[in-house]
Amino acid sequence: MSRQNVTAAAAGIVLAALFATLVGGYPAGSVSAPSVSASIPGMPVPPGLQTPVPTTVEIKDLSWVEVRAALEAGHTTVIVPTGGIEQNGPHMILGKHDYIVGWAAAQIAKRLGKTLVAPVVSYVPQGGYEPAEGHLRYAGTIGVPEPVFAHMLEGIARSLRAGGFRTIVFIGDHGGSQNVQQQVALRLSNAWQHAGVRVVHGDAYYDDRQQIARLVEAGETPAAIGEHAGIIDTSELMAIRPAGVQLDRIARPATALVESGASGDPASATAERGQMLIALRIEAAVRQIKALPAEKR
Ligand SMILES: [Zn+2]
Repeated sequence: MSRQNVTAAAAGIVLAALFATLVGGYPAGSVSAPSVSASIPGMPVPPGLQTPVPTTVEIKDLSWVEVRAALEAGHTTVIVPTGGIEQNGPHMILGKHDYIVGWAAAQIAKRLGKTLVAPVVSYVPQGGYEPAEGHLRYAGTIGVPEPVFAHMLEGIARSLRAGGFRTIVFIGDHGGSQNVQQQVALRLSNAWQHAGVRVVHGDAYYDDRQQIARLVEAGETPAAIGEHAGIIDTSELMAIRPAGVQLDRIARPATALVESGASGDPASATAERGQMLIALRIEAAVRQIKALPAEKR
């Protein structure tokens, strides 16, 4: 090795060591200056690219360095909302689940604190194709087979774990997603126990027993409340996205699900009821997530 090469090699070693020092920790007096937790995996932020901890909870509206700053500040919980594109009677848009769960997830995250929200998963199981089952009999519904949905949830959870999240919570607005979410959460939590990463199915969000009880107290019958695109989900969408509901398009007379795609009598839906009903879901989800044991460090 020539003298010049030796010098170059030595300089390379010095630079590599310097870089390792820099990426290994924040310089004193940096913007957020959190202590870098060695237990948070993922790519460290190079010096000069640090950002303050973001106040926005939606991952899709953040840069990767902002997500990294949030993680380092202890925002290690992430909610994965799942929605669905399905028929909701003649009076309501197909994106009902997506709007409701996306909005609710952000509220839940804000209430919890130190929690971010992944983009809504729109494609969920809707049953068989030939012959078309359930909502797939109505134009516009889009479903994926259950194993595809399960793999998608797994891929999302694996990604979030790789980035450094430790508590990954699925919340689903659609009935057909619940069992799959439960199974995937259980399987991944067991597999990742050693790493201190857990995946939780936030089933309290979907439980509508409190909502039904409130409406019965207000004088509604179970038949009027309905089971799909009835008073509950119509009210919720009216509260969150009024343009998605056209009450003058309600099927008359209030008919069975099979004909109009709606069950119950959504004419009694109101935005005020929607606010009350969705607050119950948010409250239940916050309670369930807060009750989880502390993360293992
Ligand atoms: Zn649904």
